[in-house]
Amino acid sequence: MGGGLVSLKTAYGLLERGLQVTVVVSSSSILSQVMDGVAAGLLQRHLEEHGMRFYLGHDVAEVEVSATGEVTGVVLTGGTRLPAHLVVVGKGVMPNIDFLRGTPVAVNRGILVNQYLESSVPGVYAAGDVAESYDLLRREPAINAIWPNAAAQGESAGYNMAGERRPYRGSIAMNSASFYGLSAITAGLNRVDGHGYEGYAWKDAARNNYRKLVFAGDRLVGFTMVGDTRRAGTLTSLILGQVPLGDRKKRLIEGDNILPA
Ligand SMILES: Cc1cc2nc3c(=O)[nH]c(=O)nc-3n(C[C@H](O)[C@H](O)[C@H](O)COP(=O)(O)OP(=O)(O)OC[C@H]3O[C@@H](n4cnc5c(N)ncnc54)[C@H](O)[C@@H]3O)c2cc1C
Repeated sequence: MGGGLVSLKTAYGLLERGLQVTVVVSSSSILSQVMDGVAAGLLQRHLEEHGMRFYLGHDVAEVEVSATGEVTGVVLTGGTRLPAHLVVVGKGVMPNIDFLRGTPVAVNRGILVNQYLESSVPGVYAAGDVAESYDLLRREPAINAIWPNAAAQGESAGYNMAGERRPYRGSIAMNSASFYGLSAITAGLNRVDGHGYEGYAWKDAARNNYRKLVFAGDRLVGFTMVGDTRRAGTLTSLILGQVPLGDRKKRLIEGDNILPA
């Protein structure tokens, strides 16, 4: 259950071990929080070619269990029944903050922190998946729950707790996955609608290649790469540094090499 990276990586692992795997996804495309429908479509087709099956736009309404407590199947919204021996739920992760509700530590989706990773209670800090810190690109509090962000926030919080004032500059969303040799990497913002962003995309379906760049003015704010993921590191640096690209924006769009500044 679930079309995110955790769910798909689990499904991939099970498929590789020889199981028959069906992925049930509420959204109309897999990885809908991570990439656009074109990129997701390439990955889905590739996984289907290797035997993974998908039910998009469906939820699991019921898990059937035998009298002896074993899973025997699931029933989808709409009534379709799928036999199953194992159900894996990969429907997202929530910070464990219930114990803080009603205390002076301010929480929203996670623990709210300032640029020093300090919570609303002076001297109490939070970092990592539990902290709703600053998103560098969205310019608002967010939880970008990945390991490198957690490590950077932990380092920053540690310095500040030890008395050295070090602002945390903010996180961005980043994701990567590889299924049967087809890699995909995304970073930053990948939805262009309604935010004044400009997006450029190339697709070579025959070679399973897709690249999309998203700009705010002459700054790169996001990219998606499926297939050829070369230069992902360089592009991520441009996003993190919010480097003004000037003329190099055009060269980036046209696929030329980026020259050092
Ligand atoms: C299945 C899965 C796959 C992932 N894959 C990737 C990946 O490929 N790349 C990547 O960058 N990130 C990945 N992540 C995310 C990554 O694991 C997290 O971003 C990272 O572990 C966050 O570190 P953390 O220290 O903030 O939180 P955690 O690693 O979750 O550590 C929090 C700890 O606090 C403990 N805890 C919780 N509540 C309390 C409490 N009340 N009192 C005391 N202790 C408590 C928990 O038991 C846990 O040990 C994945 C996550 C999952 C779940």
